Amino acid sequence: MENTPEKTEKTEKTEKVIRRLADLNTLVSLSKRRGFVFQSSEIYGGLGSCWDYGPLGSLMKLNVKRAWWNAMTRRSDIVGIDAAILMHPTVWKASGHVDGFSDPLVDCKDCKTRFRADNTDSYLTKKQCPNCGSKNLSEERQFNLMFKTHMGPLEDSASVVYLRPETAQGHFVNFMNCQQSSRYKIPFGIAAIGKSFRNEITPGNFIFRTREFEQMEMQYFVKPGTDEKFFNEWKERRLQFYLKYGIRQESLRFKPHDKLAHYARAAVDVEFNFPMGFSELEGIHNRSDFDLSQHAKFSGKNLEYFNEAEKEKYVPYVIETAVGCDRLFLAFMCDAYREEVTKDEKGAEDVRTVLAFHPDIAPIKVAVLPLSKKEDLTKIAEPLRDQLAEDFDTQYDEAQSIGKRYRRQDEIGTPFCVTVDFDTINDQAVTVRHRDKMTQQRVPIKELNGYIAAGLKNWNSTT
Ligand code: ATP
Repeated sequence: MENTPEKTEKTEKTEKVIRRLADLNTLVSLSKRRGFVFQSSEIYGGLGSCWDYGPLGSLMKLNVKRAWWNAMTRRSDIVGIDAAILMHPTVWKASGHVDGFSDPLVDCKDCKTRFRADNTDSYLTKKQCPNCGSKNLSEERQFNLMFKTHMGPLEDSASVVYLRPETAQGHFVNFMNCQQSSRYKIPFGIAAIGKSFRNEITPGNFIFRTREFEQMEMQYFVKPGTDEKFFNEWKERRLQFYLKYGIRQESLRFKPHDKLAHYARAAVDVEFNFPMGFSELEGIHNRSDFDLSQHAKFSGKNLEYFNEAEKEKYVPYVIETAVGCDRLFLAFMCDAYREEVTKDEKGAEDVRTVLAFHPDIAPIKVAVLPLSKKEDLTKIAEPLRDQLAEDFDTQYDEAQSIGKRYRRQDEIGTPFCVTVDFDTINDQAVTVRHRDKMTQQRVPIKELNGYIAAGLKNWNSTT
């Protein structure tokens, strides 16, 4: 690439001050205004805790999933699957969900608030209603979180099926299919991304806890005795994944579980500092041989692994990593959001809102901004948009001043803006502006796709 002089626009000569980080209301309203996330069925007044991903949100969610999927499956020891949401009802008996997947529920007899007994502070400490303070409360009763429906035309007890509350069971029941078809040897893993459903008693905090959500789970099958080593390896790998995609170290922490499930040998949450405080983003568990042994027992099939080299047979242990796609989406938004005060040379202040996403996560990679709507420029800018769209998610914006258009792109996290100006007519080059550094460079149109691709890949060193 030619060595071209760097240009810096006047209004963008900045003294940056990070004014404030995001709170949840700010993110909810930005999400709606810019098309990341909308309330489900909004014109009917909305449906509690259900959300729709809009034009930008759906793009970004695909990016979140792609980042996770590539990290998991572009290895020589993990395969991906896409299992059905509906499964044989006995799966949920074997897994323990029919008998045990419940939360303790309490009703306030005065204000009718219904809440979870196990994580409501005012109830745990004072035995009072979190809403009105009343002590006139029902007994605790167990409430099963699985959604039930019926398969086929008869709504009788024989036709009951469940919407899966986790994707993991699809991995366990396909353990032999995946192992035999891929011919992978242990240790190896199965990864999947898919919708899960839980009839949560108290959903909330935007997309943090919903009743329909997407999970990204990986089950790694290992020889008993090596489980502790792989548990520690996966903890480290998952931490590195978050750091790679720009989550700040100080926003993350590991929290070991105080109480372990009876089958679990170890469990730790990766917590993220959401606006409401540190909360679970991902669970990493050593599940022993519980799942495969249960499915072997209930299905009558032998799910032992045979190691030919050592002539040994065993039921593998499972190390599980399970993260919610929606929670990770929210975490990316929280960590990327900032409001910066920029000052021009005369000292006039301007505030810009930036979603400083890692470029792989940003929904739009590059925006094409013709300086004017005159045909002289649009006849270059429109084909340029098509040229870029062959390789990148691209936006075209010709409305209002260039400064306003830069701000609009900053607010949705677009790494590069490309300005087509009157010089372009003569020099066949455009100005490329970097979201974070706000530096500008003149780049020949014929080199633009390569320049943007390299810039996205080497984001930190790009000027
Ligand atoms: P929590 O304690 O928050 O209810 P959990 O421990 O029941 O979560 P897991 O069963 O380990 O969660 O599920 C793995 C991941 O799936 C969680 O870390 C979270 O990111 C996501 N997840 C679980 N329940 C929900 C939900 N209701 N809404 C959105 N994401 C969820």
